[in-house]
Amino acid sequence: MSQLVRYGAYPFVLALGLALHFLLLENQFGVQVAAYGPVLVGALAIAGLEWIYPYRKQWCADRQELAQDAVYMALIQGVLPKILAVTATLFFAQILGTQQLVVQGWWPTHWPVPLQMLLMMVVADGVRYWLHRWAHEWEPLWRFHAVHHSPHKLYWLNVGRFHPIDKGLQVFLDTLPFILLGVNEEVLGLYIACYAINGFFQHCNIDVRLGILNYLVSGPELHRWHHSMLKTESNHNYGNNLIIWDLIFGSWYLPKERDVQELGLVNREYPTVFLKQMTVPFISGADKHTK
Ligand SMILES: [Zn+2]
Repeated sequence: MSQLVRYGAYPFVLALGLALHFLLLENQFGVQVAAYGPVLVGALAIAGLEWIYPYRKQWCADRQELAQDAVYMALIQGVLPKILAVTATLFFAQILGTQQLVVQGWWPTHWPVPLQMLLMMVVADGVRYWLHRWAHEWEPLWRFHAVHHSPHKLYWLNVGRFHPIDKGLQVFLDTLPFILLGVNEEVLGLYIACYAINGFFQHCNIDVRLGILNYLVSGPELHRWHHSMLKTESNHNYGNNLIIWDLIFGSWYLPKERDVQELGLVNREYPTVFLKQMTVPFISGADKHTK
């Protein structure tokens, strides 16, 4: 059974999510339900598999971590992007006028939805690649991104642990441009379903193996190295959904003969609770202090 989970969990859960997405759309449930329904089902499936087949038992979350990550998931992944999208849309509407809000003719709206989604994923991942890489290589941005790297373990729910400034930059660069280009709701809905299910997998504590897909998709085997405590290992695998930009720019990293060791920041006393993590990026070198 564990071999089945190891090699089958990723394609099965992703296919289940996609099938559910199209089924919900076909039955007139609306794009929001068709986007977030599969995400919820995918997240629960991943959480269940982690519980039965954890990759590392010591990475299983305790109640306090679950509660903190649930706050992040609700506020930073749920509420914040909605506020930013509405604010930015109103802002651009005021500057450009509602008629010109959508930049006409730049996006291939006549392409089939899955193809538009793939194009969006490739382009958005390219932008996110450089934002993510700069967030590791440029100290002022790293301070905010360090919040995401603070946990000493990886499990499905800590995919949402981002400082609002880090998350705000991501939304501003990888979502809003597509809304302004006129990418329609159906494409965005399909993108959200794939993006979120892959994101839960990226951080999951299941021993899934992607094989040759590790040259296409940014999955958990690659992403664990990205969360290593050692900079020489963690400054790799910046890909959000796809890993192609890491292959192109030389930051793809997957050692064969060993597993990742300690995860997180050098400062093992770095705050972990939500409110403290909101202010800690404003303290110089907080990720490196060893008290
Ligand atoms: Zn990172």
